[in-house]
Amino acid sequence: MSRKIQTLDSDVVVIGGGIAGLWLFNALNKQGYKALLLENSTLGGGQTIKSQGIVHGGTKYTLSGNLTKAAECIAGMPDRWRRALAGDDDVDLRDVKILSEGHYLWSPGDIASRMTSFFASKALRGRVDQLKKEEDFPDIFRHKGFRGKVYQLNEIVLDIQTVIKALTKNFQSRILKVDWQQDTTVVTSNGEIDCIEHKLGDETLQIKAKKFIMTAGEGTVGLMKQMNISKPEMQLRPLHMVMLKTSHQEPLYAHCLGTKIVPRMTITSHPTEDGNWVWYLGGEIAEDGMERNPEEQIRVAKRELSVLLPWVNLDDADWATLFVNRAEPKQSKLLRPDAAFIHHSGNTMVTWPTKLALAPNLTDEVGKQLNIEPSGNEGFALPEGVTHPEICQPFWSEAFNKNA
Ligand SMILES: Cc1cc2nc3c(=O)[nH]c(=O)nc-3n(C[C@H](O)[C@H](O)[C@H](O)COP(=O)(O)OP(=O)(O)OC[C@H]3O[C@@H](n4cnc5c(N)ncnc54)[C@H](O)[C@@H]3O)c2cc1C
Repeated sequence: MSRKIQTLDSDVVVIGGGIAGLWLFNALNKQGYKALLLENSTLGGGQTIKSQGIVHGGTKYTLSGNLTKAAECIAGMPDRWRRALAGDDDVDLRDVKILSEGHYLWSPGDIASRMTSFFASKALRGRVDQLKKEEDFPDIFRHKGFRGKVYQLNEIVLDIQTVIKALTKNFQSRILKVDWQQDTTVVTSNGEIDCIEHKLGDETLQIKAKKFIMTAGEGTVGLMKQMNISKPEMQLRPLHMVMLKTSHQEPLYAHCLGTKIVPRMTITSHPTEDGNWVWYLGGEIAEDGMERNPEEQIRVAKRELSVLLPWVNLDDADWATLFVNRAEPKQSKLLRPDAAFIHHSGNTMVTWPTKLALAPNLTDEVGKQLNIEPSGNEGFALPEGVTHPEICQPFWSEAFNKNA
């Protein structure tokens, strides 16, 4: 017996509900496009929830002592996010929890003197301020054992789960959970996507769109195969992050300056359900830690912290690590891409934001290149009975339960 077909005409289908897809999906809907979002797992559960939540203004990328293209492109992002946080953007982030209004940069030892004049330069004015008085330092550096310099960067740190919740709440009826093995297929012809077919009871929902936009992070390559798209290529930059959960330490948001372009260590702090804090460690330690097993990586992290913050007592901490990939468009020599990325193939756009902070930049660029008018979306929704994906949970609790 042939299945009954129900057709849903849309302007844009966005595939992948991390920060890139969610921001884009929200903005398009706000602008009057009939936009749908398809997600095959949990919303935000890829790189987005595993990120450190820093809305970079690019200062991290100036650590080599000059302003790279990455730093220039990203410079406007903190202000852009602040507008969204104030409810003054297409995307409304008023419900988002700000973990820290600024990110700090500290330098142990002599690196400070080499960088001081650069940090004071005109190019960085307003982005990096040296904290001259000890009373302005974050608590952890107000210790007699601390010798270095502390700078404040114009970079907010956000509670990412609240970002995902804020981006999900307005247009839930337009978000579909898909399983490409079980209930959903792509129909292509002549290098274009004709439609996406989704099984719904004994009917087939045929989703048509003028544009299909992939924002599936690491999953983009699999999607491209399904759609017979061979370019662009993706690169994965693997990281071995470290987490420690403490009951008595203050939250800390800071990059430690090292001798490389990457900070020697980047520390962010995230609240846990049981009222503690997880310190999440990235930077050089995570990039160099891929060959180490979790025990070795934890040993290295403990040693690094005992050198960088020797007065901080972490004896009561629980430790865990996380292997995670950053998914980006391929660059020569695994270099970091420095702006949001878009590639057109027929009626599809393949995209990566390359950084959480650049999600609005990706949305703006897609907007410029979309070339379709919004057809108006009042009353537009998926049919009753479809499954909507859940919002991801922070992964800390699971990581520490494993170790218990
Ligand atoms: C450890 C770490 C720390 C980071 N810290 C920062 C930071 O502090 N600041 C910053 O700016 N950037 C940071 N980044 C980078 C940032 O996290 C990523 O650039 C950003 O989250 C990528 O978002 P995305 O939406 O493209 O991908 P993802 O968050 O990975 O989302 C992709 C989504 O697509 C879904 N999906 C996958 N395949 C399919 C499919 N076939 N069909 C449907 N859906 C699919 C996934 O389930 C997922 O929900 C960090 C990255 C890592 C790994």
